[in-house]
Amino acid sequence: QRLILVMNDITTLKQLERMRKEFVANVSHELKTPITSIKGFVETLLDGAIDDRENAFRFLTIVQNQTTRLGNIIDDLLTLSRLEQNDEESGISMEKIPLCHPVNEAISICQGRADEKSIDIHVECDRELEILGNGHLIEQAVVNLVDNAVKYCPEGSVVLVRCEREEDRRILLVVQDNGPGIPEADQERIFERFYRVEKARSRDMGGTGLGLAIVKHIMLLHGGTVALESSRGEGASFLLRFPALPS
Ligand code: ADP
Repeated sequence: QRLILVMNDITTLKQLERMRKEFVANVSHELKTPITSIKGFVETLLDGAIDDRENAFRFLTIVQNQTTRLGNIIDDLLTLSRLEQNDEESGISMEKIPLCHPVNEAISICQGRADEKSIDIHVECDRELEILGNGHLIEQAVVNLVDNAVKYCPEGSVVLVRCEREEDRRILLVVQDNGPGIPEADQERIFERFYRVEKARSRDMGGTGLGLAIVKHIMLLHGGTVALESSRGEGASFLLRFPALPS
């Protein structure tokens, strides 16, 4: 029996090692892509393109966008590593807060991007719904979900953010959109770091591929869960569930 236990430990260690290697390979690739692009455009500029004002402007705009992309990836990686540290080291504090506070903050952060696509964000969140949580982190989770909804939905859509108390007293927060949805085959992997349904499309839209992994970690830290209900072409609903406050 002890031998079986040791074998199980070795299998787990091997799996962890494989995941670590995969992650390092992914990070390197994700960082290398914008760096290669920046290097190429800077070289073209130095080779003479800088004399043509119109082209120079176009190339420098690409360099600027790729630099922003690099910054976003690094910010998201730092957030993830902070979330993975244990409570004392990370300095993340939890308090009793009305869920509507971080929700409303998040909506106001996303409003500008929604307006650009004439997307209407509809919010239903009662003040009396309270959770034990970290306002900044909940705000970030909601920003990530609403930002995705806005990014992947067509112009003129409606994004619904709804909060309610469930029968078992857990608090449910739903971010629902009527966009392209997520095919069933991808749903299990969607919360993994750097996993995207369409890599090129996500990159073009400025995505880092880390947004949902961050949401999942934030919910773990709150003793809650995240679930997805979606089918291709019929929109997506992300469901965050927070534990009930002790009465
Ligand atoms: P990204 O930065 O690429 O948006 P995320 O981790 O936030 O990374 O999301 C992972 C992938 O899940 C996205 O690339 C996209 O393919 C898919 N996705 C996330 N949210 C939605 C949504 N609301 N509608 C359709 N697809 C989505």
